[in-house]
Amino acid sequence: MTIYDVLIVGGGPGGVAAAYLCHKRGLSHILIESGKAVFQGIANTYPEGKNVYPSKPKDNPEPFLVEELRPPDKPVAVEKYIQYVQHFVQHEGLNVQTETQFEGIEDGRDFLKVATSRGVYQARKVLLAFGSNIPRELSVYGDAKMVAKTLDDPKKYLGVRTLVIGGGNSAADVIISILKEKRNACDKEPIYWAHVAETFDVNKETAQRLGEEILLGGNIRLMPGATPRIGEVDDEGVDRLVIRVSEDKLPGGIERYNAMSFPMKNVIACIGSQGPLSIFDSIGVQTIACAEGVCQVAKEGDRLLLLTADFESTRKGVYVIGGAISPSYMRISKGAIQEEKHPNLIYTAINDAHHVIDAIAGKLQK
Ligand SMILES: Cc1cc2nc3c(=O)[nH]c(=O)nc-3n(C[C@H](O)[C@H](O)[C@H](O)COP(=O)(O)OP(=O)(O)OC[C@H]3O[C@@H](n4cnc5c(N)ncnc54)[C@H](O)[C@@H]3O)c2cc1C
Repeated sequence: MTIYDVLIVGGGPGGVAAAYLCHKRGLSHILIESGKAVFQGIANTYPEGKNVYPSKPKDNPEPFLVEELRPPDKPVAVEKYIQYVQHFVQHEGLNVQTETQFEGIEDGRDFLKVATSRGVYQARKVLLAFGSNIPRELSVYGDAKMVAKTLDDPKKYLGVRTLVIGGGNSAADVIISILKEKRNACDKEPIYWAHVAETFDVNKETAQRLGEEILLGGNIRLMPGATPRIGEVDDEGVDRLVIRVSEDKLPGGIERYNAMSFPMKNVIACIGSQGPLSIFDSIGVQTIACAEGVCQVAKEGDRLLLLTADFESTRKGVYVIGGAISPSYMRISKGAIQEEKHPNLIYTAINDAHHVIDAIAGKLQK
């Protein structure tokens, strides 16, 4: 099996810059990205048509260290910037594996073994560049990994009864996009919209767009107070999600409930995102809690990642950059530990990548 010099997790500005720099310096690399294409994180979080600015922190004199990925001075819409980067990745022939989710790291003999949704890869160094928005997992008994967390392609849901979980704007946005697609295709199959609470919570503008789709024939079945319970595999080998829609308590500790079961491939869970702390814990990289008076950016009790000046974590060979360590981390330098500001900007992610690949190339003597 190939042992890559560097395995990069996440195809945002930090990850793509790192892959490009590996390519330029003759380091073998692979970049894994959970989304359909690089910059999926940006595509999912920026509003349509938003301008992208080449912002720099006020107190940082360093220029953009990978000029090729710098957003233009005259701001362009996010769609244009994404398109440019995707062409760039293709043109440079960077080794990108999309729709591949990072799952964990184990130690090998002289390398690290990285578990992903598509199997295990081997690499000398691992660079975590998965940003700050890690989608929350559905917590159900059994496994719910096959449930989508974003809407890649509304066409996938044509002709099927789809379940969208989540009570906020992002769930509503997903429903609006699927309803539009269904309307264009004259598809009358309903979308079930489930939320654990009794009320849904969307802003006025989103509610208006949703209302419009309903008036134009959109078929939605609301399921307030519905709780995803179990992930299971049925007799035909189909992964299914069981969601409880109502329950009542009978004497003697008996519960009677109604539940529905959907093939997981027809389920999208828009239940928000969380920081990357749980991933750091699961792979055993150390964090440190801010004591009173120690941190300026983080609050007392916040846990910050411990990193060297080269962004190496306490797990040897594992580096972390970009949004994943914003807005601050603890830098270990010359025997002292100090909080270091780290603004969540494209600039920061790109320049971090430059510093790390420099350090790795030095260590691997390339
Ligand atoms: C609305 C909005 C507007 C912004 N506007 C600007 C701006 O104008 N200028 C600016 O400089 N900054 C802006 N930012 C901030 C900027 O987008 C971030 O600082 C930058 O994207 C961070 O880059 P990154 O590479 O660290 O992470 P990300 O861009 O978040 O990329 C991480 C990638 O990792 C992937 N990933 C996540 N988990 C996994 C996993 N388990 N396995 C595999 N892949 C995974 C994600 O899909 C994603 O593509 C904005 C942010 C937001 C939310």
